[in-house]
Amino acid sequence: MGFNHDRLFSMTILVVEDEKKIAGFIRKGLEEQGFTVAVTHHGDEAYTMARTQVYDVIVLDIMLPGRDGLSILRNLREQKITVPVILLTARTEMNERVEGLNLGADDYITKPFYVEELIARIHAITRRGAGEHRGILQSDDLSVNLITREIKRSDRKIELTPREFNLLEYLMRSPGRVFTRTQILEHVWGYDFDPQTNLVDVYVQRVRRKLAANAEDTLIETVRGVGYRFCKKESE
Ligand code: CA
Repeated sequence: MGFNHDRLFSMTILVVEDEKKIAGFIRKGLEEQGFTVAVTHHGDEAYTMARTQVYDVIVLDIMLPGRDGLSILRNLREQKITVPVILLTARTEMNERVEGLNLGADDYITKPFYVEELIARIHAITRRGAGEHRGILQSDDLSVNLITREIKRSDRKIELTPREFNLLEYLMRSPGRVFTRTQILEHVWGYDFDPQTNLVDVYVQRVRRKLAANAEDTLIETVRGVGYRFCKKESE
């Protein structure tokens, strides 16, 4: 994957999450990858820790007892503390997500998520350096702005519905990784059941059509019998 292991194994992550089960699973996943992890379940304590200790990344829940996640973020940025922050958001916290990015969060991840995804986000942020390209996903000539939700292919603006946008974002986050229809349903629609329709296929076709520069061009590949993946560039 090309990341620096010396760097990886010395990274310290602060996890701020009041749901103890989630906090525990994040800690376990990160520690298994060699990260050093500090956990707190309370917003006020989180703020104190973030101000007085040095962390490589803070994973920050929004709804917390005491100070909430967005206030913590705002206050840290006001004090010019630029530690990279990944917000943990609920699917319904759409406005908070955008507000968080505007306040200076580097990224967000929507619950529920696989810990591998969180680790991928941590790598992405530490690779690019805090604050750089904040809130923009870029792949070749396609750019997706997570704050304005503006999508561009070269100079062409692409209009997607909110659901189509979420689908594209989900696949684009992990180029080359194949997602099953079930995973896509869970993440984009929040269904943990199969609606017995070809919902996912229909949406993939739509997004594909809107993104395509020409008839042969497809950024989202079908992996027969498995699901879909966002095309990975050869150079990556
Ligand atoms: Ca919470």
